[in-house]
Amino acid sequence: MTIQAVRGTRDILPDEVQAWHGIEAAARGLLARYGYRELRTPVFEETELFARGIGAETDIVSKEMYTFADRDGGSLTLRPEATAGIVRAVIEHNLLNTDPALKVYAMGPMFRRERPQKGRYRQFHQVDVEAFGFRSPSVDAETIELALAYLDACGVRQHELVLNSVGDRHCRPAYVQKLRDALRDVAPALCADCQRRADTNPLRVLDCKVPEDQAAIDALPRIGDHLCAECAEHFAEVRRQLELLGIPYRLSHRLVRGLDYYVRTTFEVTSDLLGAQSSVLGGGRYDGLVKDLGGPDAAGIGFAVGMERLVLLLPPGGGEGRCDVFLLPLTKAAFDPALRLQRALRQAGLRALLDPEGRSFKSRMKQADRLGARFAAILGDDEIARGVWKVRDMARSEQEDVKEERILDHLKEKANG
Ligand code: ATP
Ligand code: MG
Repeated sequence: MTIQAVRGTRDILPDEVQAWHGIEAAARGLLARYGYRELRTPVFEETELFARGIGAETDIVSKEMYTFADRDGGSLTLRPEATAGIVRAVIEHNLLNTDPALKVYAMGPMFRRERPQKGRYRQFHQVDVEAFGFRSPSVDAETIELALAYLDACGVRQHELVLNSVGDRHCRPAYVQKLRDALRDVAPALCADCQRRADTNPLRVLDCKVPEDQAAIDALPRIGDHLCAECAEHFAEVRRQLELLGIPYRLSHRLVRGLDYYVRTTFEVTSDLLGAQSSVLGGGRYDGLVKDLGGPDAAGIGFAVGMERLVLLLPPGGGEGRCDVFLLPLTKAAFDPALRLQRALRQAGLRALLDPEGRSFKSRMKQADRLGARFAAILGDDEIARGVWKVRDMARSEQEDVKEERILDHLKEKANG
């Protein structure tokens, strides 16, 4: 029996990888412009970090983590998200001492044991963006603007920004109590998950997607009606700045997000092109997290983009070729000059390829097409006798003879011009 990839994981094949390079490069370029630098953390951490950082009652910690016993008895977990590890690293290396306004990003695989389906995998990738030390609502607006600018840089247009404020330590507890009270009557008619959450983590009820539950959940008390003055003012200013920047959004009182650490602003970008797994990125403010994990009392705000889902949203095309010059030595005598020219072209920075397997002219021309080669450089006995190469412009289907001593410069000029 042949061995296959583990359920919920996937290979990113060479035909697909160009799209990934594109979104990775777009992220690095854009984030640098906004003052972010990369921070790379390990893909596994002490289990305790996620239990404390994400919240024991969340779906991620309660049922989605890949946790295993280390050989010395410790408990380790493959990171299900990037924020907790980044905060750990920021504290461990005292990064906020030297830079109390710290902007960092990370990119790489995350692991969650969910039911695999389109846009939902057990190993998936995120671009994760975090800003520490900023309490101003301007940074909420800037972070949201950055998230949208990233989608824009990738050519993704069809999407919607969803926005909410979930309050903070001052106002949320009273709201959660109201929710709990209201749920006492309503919960028995809701799905089993909701019945459990009504008890353990009432906010999560707002996340429920079961169609029959929706009407009852929509009628529950809304956090927006229970924000304290500071949270209400902060949220109003975030919205004012988004409007100033011309960024449309939809308010949703049910956007509480999957992690316990969020305070005040939460946001998500969805696209109906994604079907059921509609959220391409999500984020929010997490002002208490750094302190909770043993660091200074520093604010935090950030978001994570699901790269698989982003790739699904990319416009078709690109389809850039993989080869500048495809060399076709037609006889034994042509082979050595072709090898030398291939090396010289590569040294000049061009993508040069030749097929040394001695296949037919026709099949080699087909190969050049498949590779999207821009030029074919052909050398047979006749060309050798005349001291030329035959250069074919593949897109135009035009051929010309080029003197042997000019061939390298000629191809360099053509390929760069
Ligand atoms: P969802 O509601 O789809 O489960 P989430 O709220 O769990 O998403 P976050 O933890 O906020 O997601 O992660 C941010 C982004 O990472 C999501 O918007 C999504 O694009 C992506 N993502 C999350 N889980 C997965 C997964 N299992 N497979 C692929 N992408 C994922
Ligand atoms: Mg999830």
